[in-house]
Amino acid sequence: MAIDPICKMAVDEKTAKLVSEYKGKKYYFCAPGCKKAFDQNPEKHLGGEMVKGGGGGIR
Ligand SMILES: [Zn+2]
Repeated sequence: MAIDPICKMAVDEKTAKLVSEYKGKKYYFCAPGCKKAFDQNPEKHLGGEMVKGGGGGIR
């Protein structure tokens, strides 16, 4: 199982049709919208930092 980096859902690599390769790593998605969001801004979804939500503290 792989984890959809957008919504954190578990995706089965064997059946997944939505795959993106980024920096030599493969990412699997549960829906076209997730893949699209990832393709548009992969860094945002891969960075360890939480970008959205924000509790302050990010300068
Ligand atoms: Zn998803």
